[in-house]
Amino acid sequence: MDPAKALNDKEFRDHLSNVNTKGKRLWIFPKKPSGSYTKARTIVAWSLMALLFAGPFLKWHDHPLMLFNVMERKFILFGIPFWPQDFKIFAIAMLTGMVFIVLFTVVWGRVFCGWACPQTIFMEMLFRKIEYWIDGDYKQQQKLAAMPWNAEKIRKRALKHTLFFFWSFVISNTFLAYIIGIDELKLMVTDGPIEHLGSFVSLLIFTGVFYFVFAWFRELVCIIVCPYGRLQGVMLDKKSVVVAYDHVRGEPRGKAKKKEELNLGDCVDCNLCVNVCPTGIDIRNGIQLECINCTACIDACNEVMVKIDRPTGLIRYDSMEGIEQGRKWKLSGRAIAFSGVLVLLLGILTYFMVSRDDVQAMVVRTPGATYQFQGSDTVSNLYNVAFINKTFDEQEISIRVEDPKASMMVIGDQAFITPGGEQVKGTLMLKYPVSAITRNRFKIPLAIYRNGEKFETIEAGFVAPVRN
Ligand code: SF4
Ligand code: SF4
Repeated sequence: MDPAKALNDKEFRDHLSNVNTKGKRLWIFPKKPSGSYTKARTIVAWSLMALLFAGPFLKWHDHPLMLFNVMERKFILFGIPFWPQDFKIFAIAMLTGMVFIVLFTVVWGRVFCGWACPQTIFMEMLFRKIEYWIDGDYKQQQKLAAMPWNAEKIRKRALKHTLFFFWSFVISNTFLAYIIGIDELKLMVTDGPIEHLGSFVSLLIFTGVFYFVFAWFRELVCIIVCPYGRLQGVMLDKKSVVVAYDHVRGEPRGKAKKKEELNLGDCVDCNLCVNVCPTGIDIRNGIQLECINCTACIDACNEVMVKIDRPTGLIRYDSMEGIEQGRKWKLSGRAIAFSGVLVLLLGILTYFMVSRDDVQAMVVRTPGATYQFQGSDTVSNLYNVAFINKTFDEQEISIRVEDPKASMMVIGDQAFITPGGEQVKGTLMLKYPVSAITRNRFKIPLAIYRNGEKFETIEAGFVAPVRN
């Protein structure tokens, strides 16, 4: 192809690679990838899958290591319990997550999509592998699809879809175990589905959704549903690292035998990079939203380059700027700076998570109540107190006044026993001698003790009559 035409021909951007001119979906049969990137991705993906499936069984001090119980608003991250009252940490985590996603993508492109996204991992490393195992590589798959319904096709389709449904059910159970906990899930199994009809119906619905996604919807998740994919257009720039075709070296493309006489580039136009692509695109057209950076085309092209005795890396991880300037990608100042910000953000979030108080104490004046006189020489204020125990263990909380002029009367028990993960509420009264009052609003320091040890001082606002 003429290089000028290759660069200016943007026709491919006017349609999706998996939809024909009549708007009908074209089924993609990607060639089975192989090569060093595929091997590395397989190791990473299988490790992540092993972690995901093992996650619900991992416990820390008899509690799940990870739990995301949205219904009961109970969350455990790496053994640390979080409660709705930790919304400050959640807000910071959300903000960090958003900034992280943007900065990470600006520098490293869609590395996440190719290496760690659950959709890619399940699709390419589990369901697609089952498909290759049963139906064979892309040519056999195309043949099978075109074949009339005979015994072989029925047998293969039945086996494949049974396995697809089975793994969708396993994935659905795993996610449910992260939500309700593995012990609850075991109860569901031993008690039978009728006893837990609601959860069982949800389980079946999610199994159906996973089956639909991995058996039929597939690459459409990345192409038309995933918001992260849609945002690539505004997050990537010429310096971002992406899976890219080196058009400077590759064009003009042409078959190998004519290379010398036509002064062609290194691309032999073998189309293997297109054949392996799970989203059906041609990476030689440049950066496209459909590219999930799965690296299959890198492996395919490297194999070709080795065969024709050319340097590998015609398709590689690089920035468009690096390719245009003809230099290999190296860690730039910008990438280092952005990565530094990412590490800093993670550090701040980690600090907030580990430095969080195990007990949150709140003392507020009882709404609607004002000061009261206790005799002629003492003024009192009434307070509502609440202690949230953010640990799994019972805590005994007590309060002492740190202002020597003030006195305190706890209404009810003097110590607040808070079971793990719960909160206790109470009422107390603070008294102050009229003769010591100099302002009508001031603060009284209160020391909070946990199991006999002081861990925090908080201030209770006190209102008093204005002295004449
Ligand atoms: S695999 Fe490499 S050589 Fe073959 S068409 Fe793609 S870019 Fe060209
Ligand atoms: S263009 Fe290459 S990296 Fe992108 S999705 Fe297709 S095969 Fe994967």
